[in-house]
Amino acid sequence: MLDLAGPPRCASCAVLGHALCPTCLAELPECPPLDAPPPLARLSAGCLYESVPRSLVLGLKLRGVRTNAAPLVDAMCRSAWRDGIDGDVVTWVPGNRADARRRGYDHAEVLARLVAARLGVPVAALLSLRAAKPDQTTLTGAQRRAGSKDAFVARNVHGRVVIVDDVVTTGATICACAGALLRVGATAVEGLVGCRA
Ligand SMILES: [Zn+2]
Repeated sequence: MLDLAGPPRCASCAVLGHALCPTCLAELPECPPLDAPPPLARLSAGCLYESVPRSLVLGLKLRGVRTNAAPLVDAMCRSAWRDGIDGDVVTWVPGNRADARRRGYDHAEVLARLVAARLGVPVAALLSLRAAKPDQTTLTGAQRRAGSKDAFVARNVHGRVVIVDDVVTTGATICACAGALLRVGATAVEGLVGCRA
C-alpha cells in the first residue's frame, strides 16, 4: 500500500523501469553455498547482505517498496537451483503483525509467494508467532533469543518444506521455525533466504 506510484528506479544505478536493472542484477554479490545449521537440511542465500542487496531488503522491509522483492527473488531462485533447494510446499518466517499491517504486506510472505511461483511449488502459511507472554517485555534481548526456539507455532504438515525469509544472520530464527515444522510432521526442512548477513 505504501508502494510509490510510477515506474520503479534501479536501486543501484537509478535507471527507470526496474527495481534493479538487468545490468545491476547480474552484478549482485552472490552468496556462496552455505553449511546448513541443524535442524535445517539445506540453507541457501541469494546474495550477501551488503551494498545493493541490503538496500533492496531495507526498502522492501521498512519503506514499503514492494517491487524490490523481484530482484531478490531472481537471486534466490538462482541460488536455489544451484544448491538443490527443493520441497513439497513453500512457507515463510512470519513477521510482526503490526509491522505488516503498517506496510500493507508481510515482506517474507511476498518473497515466499514469488519464489514458490518460480519454483513451481505450492505456498502455504504454516507458521505463526506464539503470542508473547505478558512478562516478556521485561526480558533482555539475550533472554528473548534464548526463548525463541518456542516462539513459533506450526500447522500440521507432511513432506518437505522450504522456509523463506529475507535475511539470515545466526540462523536461530529460521532454525526455530524448522524445529516447529519438524515437530508437527514435516519430513525435512530447507531454508531459502534473500541475503546472508
Ligand atoms: Zn541498474
